[in-house]
Amino acid sequence: METNNKKQIDISVIVPIYNEEQIIPELYERLHKTVVQITEHYELIFVNDGSEDYSLLELIKLSEQDDRVFYINFSRNFGHQIAVTAGLDACKGKAVVIIDGDLQDPPELITDLYAKYKEGYEVVYAKRAERKGESFFKKSTAKLFYRVLKRITSINIPMDTGDFRLIDQKVVHYLKQMSEQNKFLRGQIAWLGFRQTQVLFNRDKRKYGKTGYSLGKMLHFAMDGITGFSDKPLQMVTKLGFTISFISFVIILYAVYSYFILDRTITGWTSLIISSMFIGGVQLISIGVIGEYISRINKNVLKRPMYIVEKSNIKKSNKAEVKKYAEI
Ligand code: UDP
Ligand code: MG
Repeated sequence: METNNKKQIDISVIVPIYNEEQIIPELYERLHKTVVQITEHYELIFVNDGSEDYSLLELIKLSEQDDRVFYINFSRNFGHQIAVTAGLDACKGKAVVIIDGDLQDPPELITDLYAKYKEGYEVVYAKRAERKGESFFKKSTAKLFYRVLKRITSINIPMDTGDFRLIDQKVVHYLKQMSEQNKFLRGQIAWLGFRQTQVLFNRDKRKYGKTGYSLGKMLHFAMDGITGFSDKPLQMVTKLGFTISFISFVIILYAVYSYFILDRTITGWTSLIISSMFIGGVQLISIGVIGEYISRINKNVLKRPMYIVEKSNIKKSNKAEVKKYAEI
């Protein structure tokens, strides 16, 4: 733990962990092997996001063997983005790497990311050239999501990129000032700017275990990305309202014309039901869209701590931010 306190840290690696007990030993080996070739002065920060298996025990074991290993244990599952945020709050390295804990992001690529960082880039993200072993549904929905997001946001969020990246401590500093509760880190980092570049890699399939991103979590994450970076859905609701009002106005005119001039009353149960159901659907969707934004405002007004740390071997005195940890 000395390392974390006194020496200058060159690289921090942040790894969110959710039910990864089987993979932790190999993950550690590969991370260590790669990073130690770059520098002796590094720290590995594992954030255990309420795993239900023995991930925490594995992490504690590692931290006892190696004083460059740190863990933060959440009191429950708070979600991947928040786990990474906790790591960002605690890290000290001049360069900070965010990497998935399931070895889908190859640790060996850190060497390439670091080389780009040394060329002067403050953000080096790893772009997926190929995604192995993921379902057609996951790949196609992810692809669609990134394309929709690009169209409706004004910032340039890189396509087909996860959170696997290297960022300068400077970027971490500004990230911490973005206090939104609904984190969408890849969007926030894009929003911050700085010199950004990419390194291509092939994304492997998961070796053990299964994805921690359920469909529900994925949808929530997608909504966070959209609502956090675009007001377009709200504008679309307004436009939709105007369009439908215009269409109904035309229909009303036609109905009046038909009644008085053509002397024909428009009849029909079907058209009545269809139009009222259509309007009902549009209204519910519109309320839902507005509700998504309101629920996010609500969350930010409540200002609850974003995560609760049950246990950690990062010393409290290390950093002001660590004070935020409500240790039980
Ligand atoms: N993860 C997490 N909390 C969660 C879900 C996932 O910390 O609630 C971690 C997980 O252990 C992994 C990373 O986030 O290190 C990416 O998750 P996963 O592999 O399940 O997502 P996918 O690759 O399928 O998108
Ligand atoms: Mg994965």
